[in-house]
Amino acid sequence: MTIAQQTLQTSLEQAFARLERFEPGFEHREGQREMAALWSDVLEGGGLLAVEAPTGIGKSLAYLLPAILLRARGSGPILVSTHTKTLQDQLLSRDVPLALRASGMPLRVVTLKGRQAYLCRRRAHARLAQRRIALAASDDFGLDEDALERLSEWVERTTTGELEELSAMGIHLPPSLLSDIAGDPFTCAGSGCEPSTGCFAKAARREARRADMIIVNHALLLSDPGIRTTLLAESGALILDEAHHLERVAREQQGVSLGVQELKRLAARSDAKGGALRLLKRALRRGRAAEAEAAIAAADQALKPVVTHAGSLARDLERLLPPGVPAALWPRGVDVAAVSPEALDRLLEALAFAARALERAADAAESEDGRLLVPGAFAEEALDETRGRLAQWIEVEQALRSLARVEERGIAFYVDRDERGSPRLNRRPLRVGDALRATVFSLSERTLLTSATLASGESLGPSLAALGLSVEETATARLPSPFPLERQVLSLVLDGPEPADPAFAAALSDLIVEIVGVHRRNTLVLLTSYQMLEEVASRVRAPLEARGVVLLAQSPGEAAAPLAREFRDGTASVLLGTASFWEGVDFPGESLEVLLIARLPFPVPTDPVIAARSEQIVEAGGDPFRELMMPEALLRFRQGIGRLIRTATDRGVVVIVDPRIARAGYGPKFVAALPARPRVVRSGAEIAAAVQAWLP
Ligand code: SF4
Repeated sequence: MTIAQQTLQTSLEQAFARLERFEPGFEHREGQREMAALWSDVLEGGGLLAVEAPTGIGKSLAYLLPAILLRARGSGPILVSTHTKTLQDQLLSRDVPLALRASGMPLRVVTLKGRQAYLCRRRAHARLAQRRIALAASDDFGLDEDALERLSEWVERTTTGELEELSAMGIHLPPSLLSDIAGDPFTCAGSGCEPSTGCFAKAARREARRADMIIVNHALLLSDPGIRTTLLAESGALILDEAHHLERVAREQQGVSLGVQELKRLAARSDAKGGALRLLKRALRRGRAAEAEAAIAAADQALKPVVTHAGSLARDLERLLPPGVPAALWPRGVDVAAVSPEALDRLLEALAFAARALERAADAAESEDGRLLVPGAFAEEALDETRGRLAQWIEVEQALRSLARVEERGIAFYVDRDERGSPRLNRRPLRVGDALRATVFSLSERTLLTSATLASGESLGPSLAALGLSVEETATARLPSPFPLERQVLSLVLDGPEPADPAFAAALSDLIVEIVGVHRRNTLVLLTSYQMLEEVASRVRAPLEARGVVLLAQSPGEAAAPLAREFRDGTASVLLGTASFWEGVDFPGESLEVLLIARLPFPVPTDPVIAARSEQIVEAGGDPFRELMMPEALLRFRQGIGRLIRTATDRGVVVIVDPRIARAGYGPKFVAALPARPRVVRSGAEIAAAVQAWLP
């Protein structure tokens, strides 16, 4: 151990000792100490560390404390990236203050968000000066003069410019108006605004560059080259918490989706009715700019064919999405022209024409050295807005061209449906590791990847490989749970029908009614499809109601947080949840005592990205089930199981309703992920009796 290591380790020991002495309720946790020591070693010597740290370890403090001590010794600032806002809030309100108290270092910690999360006063002033536009944008939203007045006051008064303050104040704006007053990368690019002139987004970035620790989210880190080339490149260490989300976020960031609704929205933000062209028209001096007015009218007309041809393309794409099919991989060997002989070409032409028309309108308005425009900031903003939308149309045209290259290798091209059910084109890279390596890992000298669930099976290798890393270059650790799980959890398997059996939904429903109806314990049922969820909900609704049990059933697209809150507050509730409930929701103590895993969570093989990745594995001579389906299912299974025990005093029962865990050759891999060997039982009555005996 070097002297430097001794120093950091010694400071760490002192900091933990301070916490144990002075922080009420703080306890020595072996896993936390181990993780902090591992991270300290990497902070001293450089390199990569991946740690799977189950619930209860206290991983946030384990990474914050050594990083803060390193910063206090003069390293570059610490960059922390999370996937969820929930974790960011927890870090800011609880873990960071605790780590700072323990270290005795008064360091500056800030969160940084994307430009769109901040108010742009320039844009807001222009919009609010045109109140009717603001009201028009809120047609379906019931925004009244009073709300606009309160918004105007906030625009002048806010010191942070963070748009989320608005909902906290009870001001709910329609999304179109919100995006019209937010920072916009397309309009900001050409503007010379300085932080000192009141740009909140730039001020936040300036603050971040002065801070000792900056907290961001993965989406921002991966999408913003500016953050990577400044904050990341100059950082002393990078901490990626909730690292199991990185691959998916990177795929989304590097992908493209384009549909008719998006084009309609962009047309509405550009046109002369309520968009940029309207602002531009208003910025012209009356009676002196006939030519510019004509160019604006022409640009407005040029937007209409875009929407028309986008609608035709969507109709052509319907052929790839038979009724009831949510998404489909673009068929191999089929050219775009075979699916859409005319509409795609016409749409591309219309996009190019609309972009040129917008450019002509902006140029015409700006001609004669700006003498056609009313003097002042409003005209500047109108021009920025028009040029911003122009840049966006050019980007859309390029995106559509990239979506038409369906023969490109290493990319999943597929069609799915947008929020209004219209077919939409998508492309996603199958592998993101090289890009992550080049744009993130290569810029950081000390990097920690951590999560409560990072490994799918026994090794972290597959998870690291997906991120472009290997176990040879990365120090790894999988810490054991600090809880005596085998004493806290009873694991059962129902030896009933398999999920593909038509009798499965009825068996699952009977089981729910039998367990909850008798014991009235909060029960979470994790499902893998809305179809099954709806069928089960319709079967259990009446019998549960008759027993006074509250049924909470997630609807497609419904966020997990509000339902989770309602469930936590209940005492005899059943929550039927899909994807978003398998992870990231916290139900401590009696808020969850019985967990039912309806089926082993294998990915849907027809999911376009999964299907394309499987094809790629087959082409390389591999086995998609072993290399893709099993690792994904095991990771998700471990996450689902993790919902049950959140504290050292929790106690619960997990029932695997999918009997393949006891019958299939791969079953033992799932069994190994359970806290204890499960008991196979044959009936709901047996399970109900076991629940009664296990729970106090
Ligand atoms: S740079 Fe200018 S246009 Fe962009 S958000 Fe800041 S104030 Fe608004």
